[in-house]
Order: sequence, then structure tokens, then C-alpha cells
Amino acid sequence: MRYLVTGAAGFIGSHLVERLLLDGHDVVGVDNFLTGQTRNVLPWRDHPHFQFIEQDVTQPWRLEQPVDVIFNFACPASPIDFHSKAMEILQVCSIGVLNLLAMAKEQRAIYVQASTSECYGDPEVHPQVESYWGRVNPIGERSPYDEGKRFAEAAVMAHHRLYGLEVRIGRIFNTYGPRMRVGDGRVLPNFIEQALSNRPLTIYGEGQQTRSFCYVTDLVDGFIRLSRSKEIKPINLGNPQEMNIREVAQLIIELIGSRSTIAYQPLPADDPQLRQPDIQRARTLLGWEPHTTVPDGFQRTIDYFRTILK
Ligand code: UDP
Repeated sequence: MRYLVTGAAGFIGSHLVERLLLDGHDVVGVDNFLTGQTRNVLPWRDHPHFQFIEQDVTQPWRLEQPVDVIFNFACPASPIDFHSKAMEILQVCSIGVLNLLAMAKEQRAIYVQASTSECYGDPEVHPQVESYWGRVNPIGERSPYDEGKRFAEAAVMAHHRLYGLEVRIGRIFNTYGPRMRVGDGRVLPNFIEQALSNRPLTIYGEGQQTRSFCYVTDLVDGFIRLSRSKEIKPINLGNPQEMNIREVAQLIIELIGSRSTIAYQPLPADDPQLRQPDIQRARTLLGWEPHTTVPDGFQRTIDYFRTILK
């Protein structure tokens, strides 16, 4: 099979490329390096089944070769980018998605959208089920990303209804692992970088807010299964094991054996209080659930940051 992966130099995109190449497929990777990193695609530079195209998917472009599946993972995803890269996020989630949907239609390819638990906003339903419509602030700090991804889902479903396009939507909950950026701003890179240098871990608010962390290769496996399924409607992909941010900080300090203390900082606006996926649909329809335990996955991520920061 031939795959197009956008956001191929990004954190999740690069793991998806790796998995597809390992499975023996042909992969065209696209990225404009807005938040992607060259080091994430360098290992496959000379791979006979990999081709890389540096391209901003919001600009007009044509893909010369036919593909069977388009995985759209192009979009900055760290809250620190929601302000400074607000325009790029709005564009990639609208113009970029529409461009790629048009390409999928022309190519008769299956279109897979990387969506997000941010569609649920600061949720009143816990754990979050796919049928919940969410509680999103349409004008808040996070809105370029949240509403961008909600627009993307609307565009994907419209293409399915109007043109019968084969579409899939995976709603990604907090995902972590090797190849996250140094200075990414998300909680695990921050805590790991701080703990490795014995600096205080910055907990925003009181640290009672919860997240559920999924190891990246588990998530990628979920997306592969989703692409092969017949499921049109969104499916949550994440780890149902919920933790509060204080527990995350403690575990990171413990695993690293760090002398770091905790520094409490203000909670960012609209920071969701709770986040936990209900993965019943993924379990029954895809036969999927994550297998990497949190301490195991955290350790692998710590090892990666240790190497990178050397
Ligand atoms: N967070 C924190 N300290 C940090 C970075 C993040 O306490 O240095 C908190 C943040 O406020 C949020 C949670 O950790 O409640 C997860 O944040 P992240 O930026 O990783 O992603 P989000 O789930 O908010 O999109």
C-alpha cells in the first residue's frame, strides 16, 4: 500500500512513518518544519520506500504519485503554540484539511484525520465518550486549536456525506514518547527536562487537574487499525489510566531520582480540569487498547531526553 503522511517530521507523524515502513509499505512524508524536526525524518532519508516532500499543506500543491491512504497529522499541538502559531493552526486545520480532502477525493484514497480530545473542551462528561459534543470556549486562548480541529471534523464528515469519501477520525488524548521536542512546553517534556537538571518542576495551578497519557507507539497502532476499519464516526484513542498532574510530577522525579522540588505557577486559561478517554468503541470496533504501562513509557521517554540533552 502507498501512504501519505502529513506532519511526518512531527512527534506522532514520525512514529507513524516508522511503523508503516516497518510493515513494508511505501510512504510519502510531508512537513514544512513549523514544529516538526529534521532529526525525526533523517533515519529514513535513504529508505527505498520513503520519499520526503518539504511542503506547507495550506499552499496549493499536487502529489504526483497515487496513494491509497492519507493520514493528516499536520498541525502544531502544544498549548505553547496555540498563541504564537494561532494563524498557522487555523490555516492548517481549515485550508490544509480542505486541500487534503480534495486530494483524497481526486485520488479515491481513504482520508484519516488526526483529531483531538480538545473537541470535548473542559468536559462535563467524564470519562469522555465520542457522543459528547463538548464544552469549548470558541474565543479562548486554546480556541484556534480546539475550534480548528472541530472545523476539521466537520469538513471531513461533509466530504463523506457529500461525496461518499472514505473517512476516519481518531480523537487523540494526551500522547507522549521519544521525539517530542526539547522545549515543547507540554507537561512531560517540561517535567523531564526540569527533573534531569534538578530544576523545580513547574506545576500549573494546584496540580489536581487530570490527564491520561498514552505511549506513542500504542497510539499509532490504534490509528493503523482505524485506517483499516470501516468506522466513519470519531473514535477516541488514548490511555484510560487517569492521573493528576501532581502524581505525574512525583513519578517523574522518582524515576529520574532527581533532587527537583515543585514550583507552583498560575493555571493557564481554559486548562481542562479533567481528561480521560472512554475507549469502549476502540476496544470493540478496532480490538485496540494501549499496552505500555505509564512507568514503562515514562522511562523510555526519559531515556530519549537524556540522550538528546547530552
Ligand atoms: N502543565 C503543568 N506544568 C507544565 C506544563 C503543563 O502543570 O510545565 C499542566 C497543564 O496545565 C495541563 C497539563 O499539565 O493541565 C497537561 O498540559 P499539556 O500542555 O501537556 O497538554 P494539554 O493536555 O493541556 O493540552
